[in-house]
Amino acid sequence: MTVGILGAGQLGRMLALAGYPLARDFLFLDGGPGTPGHQVAPSLFGGFTDAKLLDELASRCEVVTFDWENVPAEALERLAARTRIAPPRAALATAQDRFAEKALFAKLGIPTNRTQAVDSLADLQRAVKTLRLPGVLKTRRLGYDGKGQFVLRQPADIDLAWQTLGNAPLLYEQWVPFDYEVSMIGVRSLGGQIAMYPLNRNLHRDGILRLTRAPWKAPQLEAAARRHMRRVLTHFNYVGVLAIEFFVTRGRLLANEMAPRVHNSGHWTIEGAVTSQFENHVRGILGLPLGDTTARGHSAMINLIGRMPDQAALLKEKSLHLHDYGKSPRAGRKLGHCTIVETTAARALQRATTLIRRIDSGKL
Ligand code: AMP
Repeated sequence: MTVGILGAGQLGRMLALAGYPLARDFLFLDGGPGTPGHQVAPSLFGGFTDAKLLDELASRCEVVTFDWENVPAEALERLAARTRIAPPRAALATAQDRFAEKALFAKLGIPTNRTQAVDSLADLQRAVKTLRLPGVLKTRRLGYDGKGQFVLRQPADIDLAWQTLGNAPLLYEQWVPFDYEVSMIGVRSLGGQIAMYPLNRNLHRDGILRLTRAPWKAPQLEAAARRHMRRVLTHFNYVGVLAIEFFVTRGRLLANEMAPRVHNSGHWTIEGAVTSQFENHVRGILGLPLGDTTARGHSAMINLIGRMPDQAALLKEKSLHLHDYGKSPRAGRKLGHCTIVETTAARALQRATTLIRRIDSGKL
């Protein structure tokens, strides 16, 4: 039985690696050879809108899933007419549009920061007047890792923000002076079984996730995040893994965005939980029973961005698990990650902090 994956990045690769022990095969569709996914499974090469390739993928796979949520709507429609896709199209469509995402949170009673759609300079001026400064102008589509964002601090920034981003549909949202960020990762199976991981605490640098610590023990926040997750999963009759990112401000959660796929802040679950998010995504979309999401110890996951540290030096570290995605280095690119599993949260943090310092100073 073959699982199709649109997009052969590191997420797709980790899905395939998690699915092999369950005797499944994988087939990617992506632009060309040399992708992290293609290094571990066969691929069809071409664009996501290539009808012939989509039809071949559909005919060879019992289910098609995604490593990337921004798959064009026509590709999703074509696939869905020919095979089963998971997560559902409606969830992907919502997550492709930041404004639709915020509107969904509001509709489901999930607290989020106030937002207005912006299609003209006049819209932006109105939005700034209503929601005030500071705020963030973001592209509604195709933004990730802080790309397509402009922070406005003073009225003089309005024109520059519009000139920088003004040729795409946008939204303006209130700046959140958050204390820290967390994420919740949940999974719903084809049969409707739901499971959730412990809460993650996330640290971003330059808009890119740098460090995740889990389990983050904040019982009230975790209970609220679980309620919000359940609402979204149920709303979509969702199938597979879903991540929701939140700001924590004055002891409350504000939903920032959701990702209808396995998520970077869940990479620690490979070694730090009984069943990883990747295996549970595969189980969920195949209609198999979900695995135990309990944490084993305390994990810290560090993203390796722009430059790969010396592999041998990293591997000397005790209880460190290295994942090298086999990508060529480029500034701001996620090349790999490593996870430290420790007996206490304090020890995991201390080791992660030391490691990040050594990586940043070029000593590793
Ligand atoms: P995003 O792509 O929306 O997840 O943004 C990337 C990161 O930028 C977030 O994880 C935050 O650290 C920061 N950020 C985005 N939107 C806001 C906001 N409205 N207020 C404060 N920080 C933000």
